[in-house]
Amino acid sequence: MKKKQKINKKRLVLIIAIFIIIIAIVVVVVRHKSTVGTLAEQDTTSTGEVDNNVIEDQTENEENSGEEPKRKITEWNLMLANSDNILPEDYEVEVANIDSSRQFDARAISYLNEMLDAMRKDGITNVWVQSAYRSVERQKELYDNKVNEYLKQGKTQEEAEKLTSEYINKPGSSDHNLGLAVDFNYVNNSFAELEAYDWLLENAEDYGFILRYPEDKEDITKIEYESWHWRYVGEEHAKKMNELDMCLEEYIEYLENEDI
Ligand SMILES: [Zn+2]
Repeated sequence: MKKKQKINKKRLVLIIAIFIIIIAIVVVVVRHKSTVGTLAEQDTTSTGEVDNNVIEDQTENEENSGEEPKRKITEWNLMLANSDNILPEDYEVEVANIDSSRQFDARAISYLNEMLDAMRKDGITNVWVQSAYRSVERQKELYDNKVNEYLKQGKTQEEAEKLTSEYINKPGSSDHNLGLAVDFNYVNNSFAELEAYDWLLENAEDYGFILRYPEDKEDITKIEYESWHWRYVGEEHAKKMNELDMCLEEYIEYLENEDI
C-alpha cells in the first residue's frame, strides 16, 4: 500500500511539473506573438495611410479628453468668464448695493462686507472698493475707450486691441460682469505695497475671496498680474485653490476631471 501511494505521489508531481511547463511554453509563445504583432503594427505605421489614421486617432482622443470632462461645473460662484468663456450679452445677475454707485452679486455681498469690516477692525482703513459689478455693456464702453486711446497714440487696431486686452477684459469675459469681482483703491499695482494687500493674501480666503490674476499665472489667465482685483468663489473653494496653488482656470479643470 505504502509503495503504491509513493508511486502515485511521484506521478502527481510529474503531472504537475508537465502542466507547469506547458503553461510556461504557452505564455512564452503568446508573449512572442504579441511582440511580433506590435512590431508589425509599427512597421505598417511607416506607410503614409496607416500613419495618418494613427495620428487622426490620437488627435481625436486628445480632443475628446479636452471636450468631455468627467463633469461640468455649474456652481454660480465658480462661473468662469475669460476670453474663452464669454458671457452672453443678455447675461443678468441680481445685484445688491455696496454703496450708492457700486453693486455686487446679491448672494455674495455679505461676505464682501464682512471682509471689509474685518480689515477695518484690524486697523486697515486706507482701502476702498473702486469698482465692482459692471454690465457687459459698460465693459464694452471701457474696452472701446481704451482701444481708442491706443489708436490715438498711433497704434494699429490689432496692436491697440492686444494692449487693451492685457488690462481690460473683452466685454462678457470679465468677472466684473458676473458681479463677483472687486477692484480696490487706484486699480493699479501700487495696491501690492499696502498693508491691505498683505492682509488679503492672508485672510481673504476666510471670506471666500481669491487673487484672481496672480503674477505667476499670467500664462494661464492671459491677464497681467492684478494685485487690486479680488474675486468671490466661496470659502471652501478659495481655501482649496490656495492650498493647491491654482488659479480659477486650473481649479475648474481640476474639478471637472476629479474622480467623482
Ligand atoms: Zn478688476
